[in-house]
Amino acid sequence: MIKIAINAGHGLYTAGKRCLKSIDPGETREWVLNARIVEKVTEKLKAYTGYELLRIDDPTGKTDIALKTRTDKANKWGADFYLAVHHNAGINGGSGGGIVCYTYTKVDQTTKDWQKAVYNSLIKHTGLKGNRSQPLASADLHECRETNMPAVLIENGFMDSTTDTPIILTEDFAEKSAEAIVEVLVARGGLKKKEDTKPAPAPKPMPEKISVIYQVWEDVGNRWLPEVTDLTDYAGLYGKDVCCVYARLTSGNIYYKVHYKGGKWLPEVKNREDYAGLYNKPIDGLMMRTDTGKTIKYAVHLRSSNRWLPFVTGYNENDFNNGYAGIPGQEIDGIKIYIE
Ligand SMILES: [Zn+2]
Repeated sequence: MIKIAINAGHGLYTAGKRCLKSIDPGETREWVLNARIVEKVTEKLKAYTGYELLRIDDPTGKTDIALKTRTDKANKWGADFYLAVHHNAGINGGSGGGIVCYTYTKVDQTTKDWQKAVYNSLIKHTGLKGNRSQPLASADLHECRETNMPAVLIENGFMDSTTDTPIILTEDFAEKSAEAIVEVLVARGGLKKKEDTKPAPAPKPMPEKISVIYQVWEDVGNRWLPEVTDLTDYAGLYGKDVCCVYARLTSGNIYYKVHYKGGKWLPEVKNREDYAGLYNKPIDGLMMRTDTGKTIKYAVHLRSSNRWLPFVTGYNENDFNNGYAGIPGQEIDGIKIYIE
């Protein structure tokens, strides 16, 4: 858990702190630019856990909170890192500038590491690398001097530079600057994305649709007819006796057997390992089951009476009603199968 004290430099009405009129006729106040970035950082951090954030300027901008009040608050709170967001001035309408990050003049390595990380990230995200000889600067600034924790003061480009000002006024720049700051806080503060901390919800098992693909051999043309899927068609040709059946599933195993007319139930077959039936022996009974846990429904068409029998679901040669499809002695010339 890292405690971050953050502030937008100055106040809305602080004298002098504004963009140069000749470049920005609206003379945008420095606090407005500073606060925009602080607000974006605050919002972006909400996607993470592992931090506490204390804003120590006046979020309305109405009051320019004294620097001593700011640093006192951060010290009392026990912040682990102090970040002040500013924009620079001093070019007086000339060109050049760029981002500068300050620390106090005498600091430890940790503070230097923060400074370097913040600066590098800002340059990476915004590209606003100017022409300052020492963009990693140190100065006797109150906020950096009076803080008990590593403190970095960012000067996010110059408000009086013909090259910087048009850029720093844009929403896009503020967005990238905030991204840069958050990236450093996440990396150095050990923040975790909120989604990463909770286990991924188990995917809801979708009820799997299983299809039956089947075909029959008919004894007029002495041939296998095309495969049929579920109820898209029936397998067979009306008027031509079915002698053999092939069936398979898109998932799981199907077991089936046929009874031939005037004969007996032939051995059960599985999937397409074999077909059920004998060439030139018309069938008058069909039995099917699966290991899918779902219900297989199958029906046969009788050649002599030219009608479909009701679908059955069982697998029992002694159950005339639901144990198999067919009527002993009546040739089958069509079958339909599906799984529910
Ligand atoms: Zn400032």
